[in-house]
Amino acid sequence: MEKEYIIALDQGTTSSRAILYNREGQSLASVSREYTQYYPKEGWVEHDPNEIVSSQYGVLIDLIFQHNIDLKTVAAIGITNQRETTILWEKETGTPIYNAIVWQCRRTADVCEWLKNEGYGEMIAKKTGLLPDAYFSATKIKWILDHVEGARERAKKGEILFGTVDTFLMWKLSGGKIFATDRTNASRTMLYHIENLCWDDEILALLDIPKAMLPEVKPSGSYFGDIVIDGVPVPVTGVAGDQQAALFGQRCIHPGDVKNTYGTGCFMLMNTGSTPCYSKNGMVTTLAATADGSVCYAVEGSVFTGGSVVQWLRDEMHLIEAAEDSEYFAKKVEDTAGVFLVPAFTGLGAPYWDMFARGTMVGITRGANRSHIIRAALESIAYQSKELLDAIIADTGIEVKSLRVDGGACANAFLMQFQSDICGIPVLRPENRETTALGAAYLAGLTCGFFKEKDLSEGKIEKVFFPSMSQSKKEALLLGWRRAVERAAGWAEDTED
Ligand code: ADP
Repeated sequence: MEKEYIIALDQGTTSSRAILYNREGQSLASVSREYTQYYPKEGWVEHDPNEIVSSQYGVLIDLIFQHNIDLKTVAAIGITNQRETTILWEKETGTPIYNAIVWQCRRTADVCEWLKNEGYGEMIAKKTGLLPDAYFSATKIKWILDHVEGARERAKKGEILFGTVDTFLMWKLSGGKIFATDRTNASRTMLYHIENLCWDDEILALLDIPKAMLPEVKPSGSYFGDIVIDGVPVPVTGVAGDQQAALFGQRCIHPGDVKNTYGTGCFMLMNTGSTPCYSKNGMVTTLAATADGSVCYAVEGSVFTGGSVVQWLRDEMHLIEAAEDSEYFAKKVEDTAGVFLVPAFTGLGAPYWDMFARGTMVGITRGANRSHIIRAALESIAYQSKELLDAIIADTGIEVKSLRVDGGACANAFLMQFQSDICGIPVLRPENRETTALGAAYLAGLTCGFFKEKDLSEGKIEKVFFPSMSQSKKEALLLGWRRAVERAAGWAEDTED
């Protein structure tokens, strides 16, 4: 039967989605379902692995039945997922031995401090491209092995398996036949040697993680195996972590191409081609997705509080009713009247890496009003992204000619214009902003021959924001922002005891 569709499964941090694509790469339909977040202690975040699978399988089935799709016309499935989130389960039964420890979870910060204090940071950075941080999977695996009775012994015998969300999903949906991950997901575990392309024995020994529990690592565009949907086997031919999938979906496939995603946080990635670029400015090095099996690297930087500063304005400060209102208020005023807001709610990420920085607002005078504060909040997203861009340029020496954007907050035209102004380059907003799912669909479709590279458009641009701010104004604003960041730095350190 003729193949008509590709389905992308997008297993995100707050929801699971399934999206249907045709031969032109257009999305025809999508179904989404939110699932439960667990916060057992301050700074801890967990998901129920079975709910991850049931929500993901549920949306897939809904998509198929709602749109009356004959599964034999589905050429392949692509998977993209929340990265780093860690699941351990019994090989025999498929039962998780602990909840999924989510990427946001800080419970292993002390182990990471220990790694740094013992001087392992440099070795880990050289091999994995990452800085020792609770964010990545390695110390989360160790935590489960340390806290679930008998887990380590059983893992040594091959009875307990580890996977990121892609791996667990494929294992469950294939009835235990697929035990694999892709390079992009592996490169976020802090256990994978990104140049030798193998699990690293030294780091595994350091954290006492048995190699027997780790999945096979394949190129992102590979035949991973068949998953069974309503009794029909369908091949999985593309897998990538969400940010790398977005980079691929934005068609940032050439060295120097950059995209920034404006979600809860902001994630900026630059494709650096076949050469890894190790950062001196607080960025991490990671593997990018390719459909042809070639090895490709990216530099990545993240902002902890991006679009979520807008949620704070809405939910805590009650300055707006809906996120999109922020644009209306920001445009009502000429500028912020000298107000700068540094949303360091959970510290500052790259390039500062200051865990003790806290939210700060400076420059307030008697005339400052609601609109000024809202505008300052939106501008803070752009300033932080600009600093990521500067760090990436400093690390790679590559001139960036334009910035591709996606994510929920890129809908805000004020923010996009200000981003262009403050960076001094055009900002390109695509028509299809679901770039993560699109990336997974492209990967799967290219690998199985459903799409041809030459037929994939660069991604239609819906709007280009051109820079229009004078150099002197830009410099004055950036100076103000840096002075404000200085005021926010180290704030919680003084109050620790
Ligand atoms: P995630 O994938 O991290 O859940 P999304 O890409 O869905 O995030 O983006 C949601 C974020 O974008 C929220 O933090 C929200 O406050 C912000 N956001 C959504 N629409 C707008 C808007 N029009 N202006 C500013 N921020 C927005």
